[in-house]
Amino acid sequence: MLVFILNAGSSSLKYQLMNPETTEVLASGLCERIGIDGKLIHESNDKKIKQEIEMPTHKEAIEVVLNILTKGEEKVIDSISQIDAIGHRVVHGGEFFNSSVIVNDDVITKLEGLIPLAPLHNPANIMGIKIAQEIMPGKPNVAVFDTAFHQTMPASNYMYAVPYEDYKDYGVRKYGFHGTSHYYVSNEARKMLNKEDSKVIVCHLGNGSSICAVRDGKSIDTSMGLTPLEGLVMGTRSGDIDAGVLSYLMEKKNMTAAETVNYLNKKSGLLGVSGISSDLREIIEAAASGNERAQTTIDMKCSRIRKYICSYAGSLEGVDAICFTAGIGENADLIREKVCDGLEFMGVEIDSDKNKVRNDKNREINKDSSKTKIYVIPTNEELVIAQDTYKLTKAL
Ligand code: AMP
Repeated sequence: MLVFILNAGSSSLKYQLMNPETTEVLASGLCERIGIDGKLIHESNDKKIKQEIEMPTHKEAIEVVLNILTKGEEKVIDSISQIDAIGHRVVHGGEFFNSSVIVNDDVITKLEGLIPLAPLHNPANIMGIKIAQEIMPGKPNVAVFDTAFHQTMPASNYMYAVPYEDYKDYGVRKYGFHGTSHYYVSNEARKMLNKEDSKVIVCHLGNGSSICAVRDGKSIDTSMGLTPLEGLVMGTRSGDIDAGVLSYLMEKKNMTAAETVNYLNKKSGLLGVSGISSDLREIIEAAASGNERAQTTIDMKCSRIRKYICSYAGSLEGVDAICFTAGIGENADLIREKVCDGLEFMGVEIDSDKNKVRNDKNREINKDSSKTKIYVIPTNEELVIAQDTYKLTKAL
């Protein structure tokens, strides 16, 4: 079976062609600058190519990808009829979806109803689904949600302390995101622990970052909220902030509510505090050459992560494993070391040498004496999307 995995953003489209039974990835890539000019980065047959190709809309982008999959040197299949199903990453499934679903008209209507909760993401995801239906008629489409894994959170953790009517009337609550990654990583951790009744904390630290408390394989709390703005200090997002800062900044900087939220989403976080970049590598470099603001930015990032780890260890009544994943979590040994430093009181002892090892495998980086395991687990959201698509469509 072959699954075409699509992750449509507002001006980008990530894709993979995968055999979910063998987990073999036949091709992968990214279309960027859709609607502007168009750039394709594609990998197949052990070759990576970059091309500038016009992509006025996502439809042309998907056509460009299907073309490269079926023709020329990069070809991996003879015809698009060999694709059995399409799996879509969908950011917001609200309270409707606690697992992946085969897309039908009712699913699309529900996703459209959720646009106010994810105005930047869901429209692009819906567009990706509709174009796939148009270009590959008759093939099943499956939606895999970033929010679904967190639907097991208890009300005491997903409610905000605002009047209850706002939850009932407008859906104001914590939904959480990165669920596919938290599910994958916590599941790998459970296998490594070889324990069903496990207490796991997953730190997904990428440009967008979130942390999740997972008890016996179920999310019980997570740091992102109604939107991905809440929680950790991220590349350009502030994470947790006193809501009073919003009205104060609106007044001081003469910004509208929407402009202020955009400011907290796009101009804050690592970028805003450091004044250097949203890319942690550049900030680490600057700190190493004595830039104090860069050092403060790194300290803030780590301190916020530590705060959440301690809080979630409390909620879980202990912790068997702390897992690091995504760009920063998988690659930045300095951040892992700083986060774990000082957590010895709760049985967390990192092994500096093991922590410095770099590879793309699941690995344990704690000292042998550490009561709590510390794992680095490279995330694989595409695999989850492909496998969910396979499970739901194989019997069709
Ligand atoms: P992601 O969103 O998961 O692709 O993660 C992207 C982020 O990972 C980048 O913005 C970088 O800040 C960070 N990153 C990747 N490699 C490293 C590294 N070796 N050290 C520190 N940060 C890194």
